[in-house]
Amino acid sequence: MSDIPPMMSAMVLKEFGRLVPRELPTPDPAADEVLVRVEVCGVCRTDLKILHGDHPDVPAARLPHVLGHEITGHVVAAGAAAEVPAEVRAEVPAAGGRVVVPLSLTCGECAQCRRGADQFCAAMRGRPGFTVAGGFAEYIAVPARSVVPVPAHVPAASAALLPDCISTAWHAMRRGRVVAGDRAVVLGAGGLGLHAVQFLVNAGAHVVAVEPDAAKRDLAVRLGASGALDSAAGTDDDVLRDDLRRLLGERDEHEPSPADIVLDFVGDGSSGTRATGWLAPGGRLLLVGYQAGTEVRLETVAAVSSELQVIGCRASTLADLDEATLMLAEGKVRAMIGRTYPFAAASDALADLAAGDVLGRAIVEVGGPVDLRYGFGYYGPPAAAHPHDRTQERCGASRRGRPATRARTSSPPARSNVAGAHKRHHAPPQRARTSRRPTPPGVMVDNQPAVAVPLPWKSTRPFDPAGRSWS
Ligand SMILES: [Zn+2]
Ligand SMILES: [Zn+2]
Repeated sequence: MSDIPPMMSAMVLKEFGRLVPRELPTPDPAADEVLVRVEVCGVCRTDLKILHGDHPDVPAARLPHVLGHEITGHVVAAGAAAEVPAEVRAEVPAAGGRVVVPLSLTCGECAQCRRGADQFCAAMRGRPGFTVAGGFAEYIAVPARSVVPVPAHVPAASAALLPDCISTAWHAMRRGRVVAGDRAVVLGAGGLGLHAVQFLVNAGAHVVAVEPDAAKRDLAVRLGASGALDSAAGTDDDVLRDDLRRLLGERDEHEPSPADIVLDFVGDGSSGTRATGWLAPGGRLLLVGYQAGTEVRLETVAAVSSELQVIGCRASTLADLDEATLMLAEGKVRAMIGRTYPFAAASDALADLAAGDVLGRAIVEVGGPVDLRYGFGYYGPPAAAHPHDRTQERCGASRRGRPATRARTSSPPARSNVAGAHKRHHAPPQRARTSRRPTPPGVMVDNQPAVAVPLPWKSTRPFDPAGRSWS
């Protein structure tokens, strides 16, 4: 614990509407907890709800609050009785293995946990970023049983998308029991939707994305969707349905509706209601996105005569997170990182997301600049410049005389002089100095390895991808 400072930097929600940099006491891990030094935290639309006081988990009485629920980092210390996963334990506390923190800190013992439905855990320890402090801080203490080790070759930038963005999309796949040949519609090609497109394509489904933003539609097609349709306001329902039929193919010319499955990541009620009109007999509408006070209307005759199903999908389970980690590690899904932000610019990440200005996921470099060169998928500025240089340009360090070509080391962040200097530089200043760079549409930088990398790691929960069955 000697190199762990008593105080840490955090971006704190003191009042709804804006984040402010603050120094907070570094959490002390309880007996069964580990202390994670946060490297990267992803930014999600749910964070916008929390930011503006529109999320029931974070009422005004809970402020000040640290949000951020897509967390990856290194285990740097463990409580006296912490059962640290073996892959991580070997490294504690010297260097620390990389882990991801799940959305829910579950008990593992209640009836729901034992049956694998731990998203409903009856004795939850908390949900980071919601009911307890999250990842917009340099350190977080979480139960050792909750963290999931990440294979060493998976970079932090990609791993950060696992807890929510990738796992939640995977959970929806499981809930929808997707099989090869399914005709699928992804409603909303944001962070989750783009990962759902990949899972569906990999499963052998025919996929069409429905999305108002042209750049996101383009990206969905690049990821293997058969097509992408504009859902902007004013789009005629009949035209949209005819286009869906054309793109998804028709199983039966008398079947008026084309989709076996619709994944609704928008969740404003009207999106789901509209989608019920696209469902073929036996079709499933998966509700992943949600908004308080909205509802989906389902016509009763159609629901009964066509045996339509509306299926809620709540986040993900620990098993989902394990499986998602395995698939990311094997290159079966690519982390769609749309834009990176220095820690001090976390507010900009939220603002850009609110403006619909992020393709894929925005991530915040809580622990200093991350290396994107070995990412599995990166959609953004061309990789011609060294990512370190980009960060310097972005944060202005090169103007302070730091050599732009200086190489980074592979040491853990706190042990690297270069990274350490940047870490200090990236600590939230009183006034954030940032410049946002627009993401040029149509630039795909795909660093995914062509061959699956042998895993030096095995899931702590049983999972056999080859033998998976939905029944
Ligand atoms: Zn989220
Ligand atoms: Zn439980």
